[in-house]
Amino acid sequence: MKKNPAGGVTFCHLWVYRKVLLKRHDLFNKILKTGICRDVHVPAEPEPGLHNFAEPAFRFYGNSNSLPLMINPMAGIYIHIPFCHTKCNYCNFFSVVSSKFIAPVYKAILEEIAITHEYLNGRQVQSVYFGGGTPSLLPPAYVRNILDAIARYHSLDHTSEITLEANPDDLTPENLKAWIDGGINRISLGIQSFEPADLAYLDRRHDRASALKSLNLLAHAPLNSWTVDLIFNIPGQSTEMLEKNLQICIEAGVPHISCYALTVEEKTLLHQQIRKKNKPSPQEDAFREHFSLVIRKLTEHGYLHYETSNFALPGHTAVHNSGYWFQQPYLGLGPSAHSYNGVSRRWNPAGIQKYLAGISAQKPWEEEELLTPEIRFNEFIMTRIRTNRGIALDETEKMAGPEQRIALLERASRWLASGHLRLECNHLILTLEGMYLSDLISTSLFVETA
Ligand code: SF4
Repeated sequence: MKKNPAGGVTFCHLWVYRKVLLKRHDLFNKILKTGICRDVHVPAEPEPGLHNFAEPAFRFYGNSNSLPLMINPMAGIYIHIPFCHTKCNYCNFFSVVSSKFIAPVYKAILEEIAITHEYLNGRQVQSVYFGGGTPSLLPPAYVRNILDAIARYHSLDHTSEITLEANPDDLTPENLKAWIDGGINRISLGIQSFEPADLAYLDRRHDRASALKSLNLLAHAPLNSWTVDLIFNIPGQSTEMLEKNLQICIEAGVPHISCYALTVEEKTLLHQQIRKKNKPSPQEDAFREHFSLVIRKLTEHGYLHYETSNFALPGHTAVHNSGYWFQQPYLGLGPSAHSYNGVSRRWNPAGIQKYLAGISAQKPWEEEELLTPEIRFNEFIMTRIRTNRGIALDETEKMAGPEQRIALLERASRWLASGHLRLECNHLILTLEGMYLSDLISTSLFVETA
């Protein structure tokens, strides 16, 4: 067994499965960062702003010998901007600290939009997400031109959620206005902490003053929504410091908060620093204390804990990220980006030169994998268990037949008996205790893959 630095316990084969499934997929790494979930109620209705991904949105194809395909008529587009001012020590997302290739990569992304648009089969695009890296490093005109190009090849309209990740340093009133004028209607702000000691531990460039200034700017901006990233379980971070971080966000009226436990990924600078004893390591005890504080504090202030690491005020659940948790197809553009259309996955190379060469050859992806019904089923389990709706048994049955519904319940029975899972309205949902073992639990619910 492998100890998950976030505090959960992870079987090696899940780790391997994830590596196969998520290799070089920066965005999924972001989404599946922590191994925890919590005790929540199944909402009777989907959140406003969140497309109802449940059964009526899917069409099922296949025969009785296999698990059928789930096809969602909506889609998302992710654009990876692989440039950063400096590299944060804990980061394992693909990015380079050089502005030399910003213009060539921008032009390549415009080409990639034309090359790959058929991958989504004409689905309505309900979300676009500029992630990275640091998308706020892009000149605003590039952002606008990329959105214009997407609109030429895909059905995108004013109801689509269009998010840009920004660092506090780049968030000036001028940039913000230009992004909004260019079509951005949601900003994701990478604050992580307001505490100077935390920011120093993480090698973040911004300081408390610029973080507070950017909060104030966003609170008064004409955006549909905005979100803040926070990190907890940073060595040296007390519960008081964490509570202050949360309080600042609550008082600023931040409509959506993503809270991640610090994880130490191999091949990061932080991993080396800890190995050489230059920095202390995150502690499991603090992790449990911090995470329960985050849940209590945010839910007390009206935030819905709708996914392991995500909290939203009513009407502000993230449309784009919800797409990943509900198997919505998406097209990934840019170096290291990853695409999924319900039938296959594709990976772009995590290297600027390789990516540019792929665009020149009219084939930006370096690998494509056809998804077996079993892989799709396991992905469904792995992502749904992280949501407050849990695993819907009716949906499982529609996907895989009544035998799989029964088999899944049998596999879940020991967790139901031990109190790590509960069954509510035909949904399997992790309890508070189950959240610490969510990787182990989801692995035990998988079907065998070839
Ligand atoms: S700014 Fe974001 S993407 Fe860039 S190094 Fe830091 S954490 Fe990674």
